Amino acid sequence: MSHGYESGRLNLPFVGISTFGKSPYQPDWEAIDADVAILGAPFDFGTQWRPGARFGPRAVREASTLFSFGHAGAYDHEDDVTYLEDVRMVDIGDADIVHTDTIRSHANIESGVRAILKAGALPVVIGGDHSINIPCIRAFDGQGPLHIVQIDAHLDFVDERHGVRYGHGNPMRRAAEQEHVTGLSQFGIRNVSSTAKEGYEAARAMGSDILSVRQIRALGIEKTLARVPTGANYYVTIDIDGFDPSIAPGTGTPSHGGFVYYEVLELLAGLAQRGTVVGIDLVEVAPDYDQTGTTAILAAQVLLNFIGRILHARG
Ligand code: MN
Ligand code: MN
Repeated sequence: MSHGYESGRLNLPFVGISTFGKSPYQPDWEAIDADVAILGAPFDFGTQWRPGARFGPRAVREASTLFSFGHAGAYDHEDDVTYLEDVRMVDIGDADIVHTDTIRSHANIESGVRAILKAGALPVVIGGDHSINIPCIRAFDGQGPLHIVQIDAHLDFVDERHGVRYGHGNPMRRAAEQEHVTGLSQFGIRNVSSTAKEGYEAARAMGSDILSVRQIRALGIEKTLARVPTGANYYVTIDIDGFDPSIAPGTGTPSHGGFVYYEVLELLAGLAQRGTVVGIDLVEVAPDYDQTGTTAILAAQVLLNFIGRILHARG
């Protein structure tokens, strides 16, 4: 992470321009030289209820400055590890979004992820609604096999509804269809769903392991992790509505009965140990419903802690 004191400035979190974690801005996608690259995907035409996730990347970037104090890294006294130390992270800005044009907007997101992968960096994409996962997964073709871990209240496994195939209820179905995707772990699924019964049956037939929040609490985190293929390449997609609305109200389709912070952090930390995390997206933060900003802060905190643990596990 960038450390302002090196340039003789204090550069406190509330000072300056809000890149993610106040990491350097790299607008040239041909010149990415980093371990981790952040891409914004401010796209929300895939929503079926409350829109507003197009402002997610800005909100999460601003919230992430809270975690950019000038001292190097993030010391965790429970783990006795300083995470994010010597991690080279850049923010490459946003994919260009063309209003009402899903195909072109998604293609631009895919280009950004491809540029990050070409540079050998870990792509971290901030949505946007969950449909932005579709171009992210597409960008990994030829780089499989990939196992997808989804944190979400909703299964998002709709094949097609009224001709819509690229909305925020479709991404896990589109992912499961890809040749380079070998399976999915779908965690936190509950309540009113994006998907009808036949979608659940199709998901299981296509290699999904579906667990609700209550089922994961009954199993415990260790036994939940044990159901995820070990040693695999994981792509992790985090829909903020997987968390409980009491801590993450700022989202289009909140669903009560969600995860608390440490359940998800322990799952993510376990994944970083269990296999190789090769890509991340975090979606559905809609700041207009986030009256205290706590949802964006949660998103930033989850991402920075997850990135820190992934890079630490790589050694
Ligand atoms: Mn979702
Ligand atoms: Mn959801």
